Formats: sequence, C-alpha cells, structure tokens
Amino acid sequence: MGNTGSERANQFVVAIDGPAGAGKSTVAKLAASRLGFSYLDTGAMYRAVTYKALQQHLSFSDKSALASCAANSKIEFEDTVNCSAPRVKLDSHDVTDAIRDPEVSRNVSEVASEPEVRSCMTSLQREIGSRGRWVVDGRDIGTVVFPEAQVKIFLTASIEERAKRRFDELVSKGYSPVLEELISEIAKRDGIDSNRKTAPLKQAENSYYLDTTSLTIDQVVDKIYGIVTVKKGQP
Ligand code: C5P
Repeated sequence: MGNTGSERANQFVVAIDGPAGAGKSTVAKLAASRLGFSYLDTGAMYRAVTYKALQQHLSFSDKSALASCAANSKIEFEDTVNCSAPRVKLDSHDVTDAIRDPEVSRNVSEVASEPEVRSCMTSLQREIGSRGRWVVDGRDIGTVVFPEAQVKIFLTASIEERAKRRFDELVSKGYSPVLEELISEIAKRDGIDSNRKTAPLKQAENSYYLDTTSLTIDQVVDKIYGIVTVKKGQP
C-alpha cells in the first residue's frame, strides 16, 4: 500500500548506524523521546529471530531453516506506559529481556548475515517506518533500509570503551562478564557485521560521523537533536 501525500510529507527518518556497543540504542531512544519521534530498534528484530532459532535448536548453518524461522516469526513492538522503549514481542510473547541474553549476543551476527533473514527484516522495518517520524538504529539503516533518510548518523567509539559500556550494562543486570572476553566478542561481531556480503556495516554517504568515546550520553543526544532540528527547519 502506498503512502498518501500528507503521510509522505509527515514522514521523517533519522538513521543511526554503528558497531556493537557504541550506545546507539541508548541515544536513539533518548533522541526519539526528545524529538517526539517513535523509536525502532532493528537489532532487537535480529535478536528475536536468533532467540527463536536457539530455542528451536536450529543449526546456524542450515540457511533454509533460518530463513523460514525469520519468515514465521511475528515480531511486534508494544508501547507501555512505564517503559522508556517499546516492549519486544515474538509470536505474542514478551522477549524484551530474553533477547539481551549473552547467548543471543554471541550468535546474532551469524543469523543476521543470512540474506533471506535480512530481506524479511528489511521489509518489516520499511513497513513500520513508512508512516510517521522515526529514529531507527541498526547496521544498515542509512545504507540499505532507509537510504533516503533525512538524517544519517554513524555512531562509534573505541572498542575498549564499547566493551566497558557493555561490561557495566551486564553487571547492572546481574551477569558476571569478563572484560577481555567482551572485547573479543565485540571484535568478532564487528568483523562479521562489516564483512558480510549482504548489507555490511559501513558508514552511509552523507552521514554525520560521531565518535562518542569521550562524550557523555547527554552530549551525544544534544548533538543529534541539534542536527535533526536544523534539518527539519530546512525546506
Ligand atoms: O544493535 P544490536 O547490538 O542489538 O544488534 C545485534 C546484531 O543484529 C548486530 O550485531 C548485527 O549482527 C545485527 N543487526 C544487523 N542489522 C541491523 C541491526 C542489527 O545486522 N540493522
């Protein structure tokens, strides 16, 4: 179904791409709320498929099993009153916390490198983002999913800083991570995400490069808010 003229006029996408642990979802969520936009976490969608594949004990080398797992996954985002971000539902079950499990993080890049899984997720992302104003974060948002996005940002930080942030996040959730293991896991994930054939992670043309290594979350959100506000004011 095509968009009407007024829907198109009202549509605005801020695409935020970058490597694992750069803080994309934290700042995307905050920027969306400050701008009055909706927030779409595309990593959550790949995580949901990976979670289901793990639950079903699928072999990650079985491409057709992964493709049908993705095609048969009903992924939905549900706004709730007391949460800063929408809850993630998979086949009507709330998997918001389960998809952050380290086991999912360790395997998600392999699942996400499967072209048929990507094609399924890309269609769903375009469908969700086709109406309204969105901040969308992921790896291929400005390059593949929404190449016409009004604002594109490439968010990164040093690998040590990214691993430290992930370490703190996991500790706050009750896990006992080992920093060196996180550094190698993140490096491995970046390697797979950047070198896969379909929709590799790379900086989109005409995107703003933001290195957040020595910036606070508020400083990053301020920068994004400033960039979007200027762009929105332009005819
Ligand atoms: O953003 P997050 O770390 O939750 O993403 C998990 C994984 O999902 C990434 O490492 C990547 O393999 C995959 N992903 C992707 N394309 C996106 C979003 C995430 O390939 N647009």
